[in-house]
Amino acid sequence: MPLILPPHVDEKTFQKALDAFAGVVGRQWVLATDEDRYTYMDIYAPGDAETHTPGAAVGPASAEEVQAIVRLANEYKVPLWPISRGKNLGYGAAAPVMPGTIVLDLGRMKKIIDVDERYGYCVLEPGVGFFDLFAHLQENKIPLWMSVPANAWGSVVGNALERGYGYTPYGENTRNICGMEIVLPTGDMVRTGTGAMSNSPNWHLFKYGFGPSWDQVFAQSNFGVVTKMGMWLMPEPEATLGLRMQLPNPDDVGWAIDELQPLRLNGVLQQNPSIGNSLRVVASQTPRSQWYQGDGALPDDVLRTILDEYHLGWWGIDLRLYGYDEVNEAHAKIIKAAFAKHTQQEFEVVKWHRGDPIQNSGAGVPATNALQIINWRGGRGGHVGFSPVLPANSEHVLRQFHSTKKRYEEIGVDYYGSFTLFDRYAINVNMMVYDRDDHALTKKVRDLFKVLVADAAKEGYSEYRTHISFMDDVALSFDYNNHAMRRLNETVKDALDPNGVLAPGKQGIWPKTYRGSRA
Ligand code: ADP
Repeated sequence: MPLILPPHVDEKTFQKALDAFAGVVGRQWVLATDEDRYTYMDIYAPGDAETHTPGAAVGPASAEEVQAIVRLANEYKVPLWPISRGKNLGYGAAAPVMPGTIVLDLGRMKKIIDVDERYGYCVLEPGVGFFDLFAHLQENKIPLWMSVPANAWGSVVGNALERGYGYTPYGENTRNICGMEIVLPTGDMVRTGTGAMSNSPNWHLFKYGFGPSWDQVFAQSNFGVVTKMGMWLMPEPEATLGLRMQLPNPDDVGWAIDELQPLRLNGVLQQNPSIGNSLRVVASQTPRSQWYQGDGALPDDVLRTILDEYHLGWWGIDLRLYGYDEVNEAHAKIIKAAFAKHTQQEFEVVKWHRGDPIQNSGAGVPATNALQIINWRGGRGGHVGFSPVLPANSEHVLRQFHSTKKRYEEIGVDYYGSFTLFDRYAINVNMMVYDRDDHALTKKVRDLFKVLVADAAKEGYSEYRTHISFMDDVALSFDYNNHAMRRLNETVKDALDPNGVLAPGKQGIWPKTYRGSRA
């Protein structure tokens, strides 16, 4: 990909900045050829990858090198986009919001600094992948479990910073963050919580410190580069008990949420179950052309034939209880009784005991097969996810489900959705799968996305996370008091980052230097 410079930077200054970076990390870790730039583009982009083309990438090996690069970025006034592993697939992968931004690739910093069995935490550098941490825990027989997202190709740190989630009782990944080391946009370094004391034994035990608590200020933000993260891990339970069921009708998701939410809130259910439409299962295993060659979205009768052939319902639900055998059995009884009010079906029961193979346990076991869904449309596949947060009840869930499905059908895209239930809210991930080279289809997807953001904003729903192409749209929907939140974010941004060097435009937060680039 040919060089696109960041705004206000001439080629000579840009080159000088790269030379200065090479002085810190070595020439081989400054990646600035056309091929390098191509490598850091959004590999799943919905037809608009060039609008986020990076100018180059630089790969430091330590926090000190990160500090040096950030200081040089201030000197030359070039923007940086930090990534941990850059596998933020469906949300922009490694690519920056603003074209020309230099990717600060922290993938070489991949030390597992500490794992503490007694207190259940680990301390990680940003490049540690879910597979790396899993292998470390397994090889060292450490009885701590991770929370992993459906696609676990990325890093533990990047995913927690983006508020990714998994399905164990520790499933809200951002909530497990406890104590970080951060390089600020000026190159200064801070440690959050009690890490701000130089000798505290509590850095990864007690989140708050003294005064304002900063960990979450650096999640989904462009206020700093995280170079170390403390993260709580779950003690391995004695046993788990899984309850699986196929729900035959589209509206069954409503009563299922109504029954499960109080049980999730009162702790009978401790994890975040995902209720996903079963087409996703089929789409990960077969191409669409095997079932349907017509125009428009997959018709309901074709879908029914497919689901019947695979013995699937409209939705699949997979619950998991963790703890002591007797307690799990008692909780399972309560859940079964709640479901018996609506269906004659029995749950399929899956049991696991300590010592059994971990694969079937309900632990976070990293996998990437969820990504196979992108082959559904043929060609070079890709996906984006539209993911609003809703109150966890049938009224909101069914209204949102029907209106989203209708929008998909209007535009001729197949509906894939899931509702993941948390204690008080549900996250509704709606995937849009496409062949990236089908420009008519990717254009439809981009249009659909904008319509969905606008529909959701009318209901007062925000997204829990979004793709780099839509960050301004989502940020704009936070409109209370004439966008007071944007004023707050940008006041802090300008104070911390006077030259606007860190991730301009991330989450719709623009430093004053680049505010004109807002979409
Ligand atoms: P993954 O873990 O999936 O590989 P990425 O590395 O792509 O995740 O990170 C996703 C996004 O999170 C990045 O685009 C960036 O905005 C933010 N991010 C990731 N790592 C860091 C970090 N160490 N410091 C600050 N922001 C980060």
